[in-house]
Amino acid sequence: MDRVLRSRSLASVDANGHAGVKGTPGRIVKSTRPRSKKIKIEEDSAGHTLDKVSRYFIKKEDEDQQVNKIIEEHLKVEIKQEDLGLIPKLETVIPKLEEIPNSFEPNPLQVFNHKDNKELLVNVFKPVQLEDIEDIPSSIAQPKNWSEIYNRVVKMRALFVAPVDTMGCERIPEQINSNIRENPKLFRYQLLISLMLSSQTKDEVNYEAVSRMNQSFIVNGYRDGLCIEAILNTSEVDIDRLIQKVGFHNKKAIYIKRSSELLRDNFNGDIPKTIQEIVTLPGVGPKMGYLLLHKAWNIADGIGVDVHLHRLAQMWKWAPKSDKPEVSRVALQKWLPKKFWSEVNPLLVGFGQMVCLPKGNKCDVCSLATAGLCPSVNRKLLNQRGSPDRLAQLHKGRGDLSLLIEEIGKLA
Ligand code: SF4
Repeated sequence: MDRVLRSRSLASVDANGHAGVKGTPGRIVKSTRPRSKKIKIEEDSAGHTLDKVSRYFIKKEDEDQQVNKIIEEHLKVEIKQEDLGLIPKLETVIPKLEEIPNSFEPNPLQVFNHKDNKELLVNVFKPVQLEDIEDIPSSIAQPKNWSEIYNRVVKMRALFVAPVDTMGCERIPEQINSNIRENPKLFRYQLLISLMLSSQTKDEVNYEAVSRMNQSFIVNGYRDGLCIEAILNTSEVDIDRLIQKVGFHNKKAIYIKRSSELLRDNFNGDIPKTIQEIVTLPGVGPKMGYLLLHKAWNIADGIGVDVHLHRLAQMWKWAPKSDKPEVSRVALQKWLPKKFWSEVNPLLVGFGQMVCLPKGNKCDVCSLATAGLCPSVNRKLLNQRGSPDRLAQLHKGRGDLSLLIEEIGKLA
């Protein structure tokens, strides 16, 4: 694998020591040097941007080798089992949509989608169709029953609205501004800040923090609220004060300020369009980067794997066992059709927030339990299904599960 590095010659460093001409990102070149940890890293005179990219890719290359080893192992196991006839043939993993009751009707929440200029059903996702499966080359091993599991989650998701649907990073700019549809550049910037604040923080808390920052900037005379000019004119200490409730707020305040400076200096104040450029922003890694590319530019170059998606992919054996989300990302990208790369994150994050929680999963309202599709089902809970105590508990969660409870009740 060739190493990709961002090259900035000394001639392209401006008087302030910033690499490249304002608004002109450096040229991407492919290094033909042999792999070695002792590679000489090219730096700009400020010694920051290029160093971050190089360090990221050098680290990533080592990780990629480890990840590929694990995936190869995983695929070998799959192929062996297939040879032994333990993995069902293709026709048996076709989604059995007809088996899912028709009464699983969507309960969509509509919000405006600035990208397509139309209303969007935030808890309705595309199901897997037969042709999606047929398009996967036969040389690629697919996890057992993945499409059936996926489609059942699609059906369940349409019966409740999760925090990610209304307060997730993608939703925040639309929810806190009335004019965002006329200003896509502002949308992209607010999306970046929402994503940067979101790690280790609940959607509800993140929503409140971004909203508060936006209001504060409006009160201070910035017509667009949370915008790059406002952040550039605000000290890190004051940014930190505005985001006090989010996890690691002091670190995030520094990252937000530095990232905004880099956007101003290198990208004309806008979000770049490649993952290589996006990860040059301090505090932004591949998970956030791929989500940003999807939502800001509609580019699906990779899957943004967060803790929920990683946990569920591991549980359903969609990826080899690992504590690294990166392993799940690479494994999913090997077999999951590209048309689902953007949706699989919000689909499963919402499911992980409302039904299959990291602690206290709700197997008694999960149709994967009813269909015998989940290897981790909690049978004790199935025995308590419908009891008054259990129903009271279910209604105490982060959102309204009434429709799902009703539908599952009909199946029991
Ligand atoms: S653990 Fe329970 S809630 Fe989670 S997917 Fe499996 S059956 Fe559903």
